[in-house]
Amino acid sequence: MIAIHQLHKRYGEFSAIQDVSLSIPSGAIYGIIGASGAGKSTLLRMMNLLERPDSGTVYVADQDLTQLSSRDLRKARKSIGMIFQHFHLVANKTVRDNVRVALELASYPKAQQLSRVEECLRFVGLEDMALKYPAELSGGQKQRVAIARALATNPSVLLCDEPTSSLDPQTTSEVLRVLQDINERFGITIVIVSHEMAVIKSICTHVTVLEQGRIYETLTHTPQGIQS
Ligand code: ADP
Ligand code: ADP
Repeated sequence: MIAIHQLHKRYGEFSAIQDVSLSIPSGAIYGIIGASGAGKSTLLRMMNLLERPDSGTVYVADQDLTQLSSRDLRKARKSIGMIFQHFHLVANKTVRDNVRVALELASYPKAQQLSRVEECLRFVGLEDMALKYPAELSGGQKQRVAIARALATNPSVLLCDEPTSSLDPQTTSEVLRVLQDINERFGITIVIVSHEMAVIKSICTHVTVLEQGRIYETLTHTPQGIQS
């Protein structure tokens, strides 16, 4: 689903990502773990080209994003959802309208927007919260709204940047359950960046450990445990 080859990214003199290659199979829940500053967020943001690599290739669903025109990149990004540590909801819009914005931006047919929003809120268990504002929600509920928004356009990949790092342990497991659920139900490939091993261990099928911009090792989770 995602194949990255010999990726390099510098900020001035500083190498944030050095010679990173990895392959994320369709349907995986793929964890990227490492200390703060290891380059996790930079690597994730190159998977939808929010950050442009200096060299290397980023294939998502058999298209090298680095070679696309800006028009084709916009199209490709419709199939790549993203969620963030701090949710990035719009404070003066209701839950319903926060999700609907994603459909507007994707030129989703107006007549079907409301029913699609309701469907997505149901997927994340927030169908009763449609008319609330973000400030009225708990952190876990806010992240579930962000997941609903990311799901609205039916992406094949969901990129998650420290999705539970602002949450307490209880709401962390609530959000991880939703991620696992949408992976199982819709086959969405999920990539999760985290500095918390417990989070990665609880749901990931694959784990790449990043250290100072390089891959330290990649492990696969099997029913027998973690394999190198
Ligand atoms: P992580 O997500 O693992 O904490 P990041 O990818 O955010 O790491 O950052 C990796 C390194 O690159 C850090 O040292 C960070 O300071 C640096 N960095 C990230 N973004 C920028 C930027 N826009 N300009 C300069 N340095 C940056
Ligand atoms: P978090 O800690 O939740 O990831 P930050 O405020 O650190 O949030 O934002 C992470 C990065 O994502 C920032 O560089 C910001 O510019 C970028 N960003 C914020 N909102 C969006 C968005 N809706 N789409 C793409 N990038 C965004």
